[in-house]
Amino acid sequence: MARALPVVQDGPALDDAERDRGPCERALDELWPVARARLWTWRYLRETLRLWRRFHLRALTLGSVRIAVPPGQVPDCDACTEVCCAGDDAVVSLRFRDLARLVDAGLQGHVTHERPAPRLGDAERSWARREADASVFGRAFPVLTRDQTGTCTLLSSERTCNAWPRWPLSCARYPYALDLRSRVIFWAKGCRSTTVLPASEAPARVRALVRAVVDGYNERLKDAVLLEVARPELAALGLLRFIELSRLPRA
Ligand code: SF4
Ligand code: SF4
Repeated sequence: MARALPVVQDGPALDDAERDRGPCERALDELWPVARARLWTWRYLRETLRLWRRFHLRALTLGSVRIAVPPGQVPDCDACTEVCCAGDDAVVSLRFRDLARLVDAGLQGHVTHERPAPRLGDAERSWARREADASVFGRAFPVLTRDQTGTCTLLSSERTCNAWPRWPLSCARYPYALDLRSRVIFWAKGCRSTTVLPASEAPARVRALVRAVVDGYNERLKDAVLLEVARPELAALGLLRFIELSRLPRA
């Protein structure tokens, strides 16, 4: 019998762009409560304990993170001369939600398991890139394709994102990033073009970025649960084909 859990609560409500979900993303959302209800049931006890050992399964909330970004500071993309969708740190790891959105948008051709080898040493790579490179769980998931120059293939010639508004969660929150150990949201060092919004505009924009950070982390937890207790359903949705199961930690 399922019992009420103190772990893996639903994340915050989706924003307006995300509410416009396609069939694959909707089906994924419908699968989540089914998977969550399986945790701590006798049938899935072994899988639940495995998850419990490997992950801190408590979901983040907006109130449980500390924001170390200066008040009102957001990226100034219009004035920016950088292209953060290119370069060594521009490796976009994908979650199941990202994959479902790409499928719904007919963009699944931009998914690959070919990650560029880290060219930079630990000291030069961003914290997020080092985490992604080191995470066995993360490496089972694919990334977005890049062209020969290392630029995301979803970047248009006008420097807009061809996936928006169904762009990956990690793109939606950039350059806000989460230090998992301290639960502090910090400013990714790859983005140097900033502006500070007036108090009338800042709360909404900052809140959207913070929420994208929180949502991204919670989706990672959901992915771990789904992979343990709902693989047949993921396969039926056509999402398991994107995962390199051999890379997952062995039981
Ligand atoms: S580097 Fe920062 S300011 Fe420039 S395009 Fe990327 S997010 Fe925007
Ligand atoms: S998906 Fe869009 S925002 Fe993300 S890296 Fe590619 S072009 Fe940039």
